[in-house]
Amino acid sequence: MPDLDANAVRTHDPGDAGFVDELRGWLADHLVGDFAKHKGVGGIADDSYWELRLEWERLLARHRWLNISWPLEYGGRGGTVQQELLFHIEHARAEAPYWVGSQGRDLLGPTLLQFGSDAQRARFLPAITAAEEFWGQGFSEPGAGSDLAGLATRAEADGDAWVINGEKIWMTFGDHADWLYVLCRTDPAAPRHRGISMLLVPRHQDGVEVRPITNIAGGREFCEVFFTDARTARELVVGEVNGGWKVVMATLGNERGGSTVLPFLASFRRQVRQLVEYARQVGADQDPVLRARIIKAWEDFRVLQLHSDRLLGAVLSGRHPGPESSLTKLFWATWHRDLGELVMDVMGRDGLVWHDPSDLAGEQQRIFLNSRAETIYGGTVEIQRNIIAERVLGLPR
Ligand SMILES: Cc1cc2nc3c(=O)[nH]c(=O)nc-3n(C[C@H](O)[C@H](O)[C@H](O)COP(=O)(O)OP(=O)(O)OC[C@H]3O[C@@H](n4cnc5c(N)ncnc54)[C@H](O)[C@@H]3O)c2cc1C
Repeated sequence: MPDLDANAVRTHDPGDAGFVDELRGWLADHLVGDFAKHKGVGGIADDSYWELRLEWERLLARHRWLNISWPLEYGGRGGTVQQELLFHIEHARAEAPYWVGSQGRDLLGPTLLQFGSDAQRARFLPAITAAEEFWGQGFSEPGAGSDLAGLATRAEADGDAWVINGEKIWMTFGDHADWLYVLCRTDPAAPRHRGISMLLVPRHQDGVEVRPITNIAGGREFCEVFFTDARTARELVVGEVNGGWKVVMATLGNERGGSTVLPFLASFRRQVRQLVEYARQVGADQDPVLRARIIKAWEDFRVLQLHSDRLLGAVLSGRHPGPESSLTKLFWATWHRDLGELVMDVMGRDGLVWHDPSDLAGEQQRIFLNSRAETIYGGTVEIQRNIIAERVLGLPR
């Protein structure tokens, strides 16, 4: 199957060849032993192999491969956005384990670079790069998901602190988090979108209770979080007080955008390859309908790569991706959901029996189970369709 880095060759500056050679050499030397045995494990909403992935992340950090485009004082390399993307492409191509610090590294970090104060960046970014502090995203509530502006969690000023009361849900990796970035209503009298602020809240305090939820695949990836007079410092607001809507839109753009989609492409490619192998093992490759569906899955995967190229093109030309990120999110989430259904059809009755996640059949089953969440998080497919309808096609709300 063609390599993912074919795209990189088309887009990257010839001056970066030395950078890519050094990175490939490093990956070849270090992606060995247990790391090589667990190629491509994990994902942005997958808590499997946590310890191994953390060890890999800390190894990357020690060798200064993380957050390449971040300034040196924040632990980065002071490199270019192009080099950062090349890192993601090569890391995914090598099928290295996916780091566990994605909430801080891929979502909050870029938000702090864009909107955080100097003091916030100096306090938090180095610990994110070093994989020493982990973050949880507190946006969704039982009554506010797609309609995020309906959130009810309150933060009230009390001297030099904010006092927070309310409930968040579906917080990815919340049980591993040291800090939470939480959307709170700070002006209940203001119009819905104008009275919201993003607060940085220490997780380890009496007023914060984190309860893990077991997901359909048996993982304990996300959590409910209850705030009862929880406190944080008055200056730990990202951007302006009551200006949190602009900040959260940037975070969600990152969640649907460039660096989060690249690792998916590598694992999707591996999954199609495994499906072909599994279909051969069980004789499903002789079934003309299943064969045609597997071929279609591969064709659509190539289309997905082109969507990803377009998104990367926007990032490389210095634009913050807008509706391109919704198109890509919609395409990859529905493609992967359909792949999961194809996998179950290839498995037939065997798909109804629980398999150990570490064997080939178990891995196939986990594709089906985990892909159900992907049409929901980061904004559901219906919400992405609304964005495309309104902002790309100019249709009425
Ligand atoms: C694996 C996973 C991890 C997550 N991690 C986090 C996290 O770390 N932090 C966090 O804050 N949240 C997280 N979420 C929550 C996620 O952002 C929400 O589930 C999502 O925004 C949808 O909100 P909801 O579940 O309340 O569904 P609802 O908004 O109630 O939607 C229910 C259904 O109605 C549809 N719908 C709603 N509004 C419209 C509309 N205007 N037009 C058309 N259809 C509509 C939706 O598409 C959906 O099908 C996670 C979710 C999952 C599954």
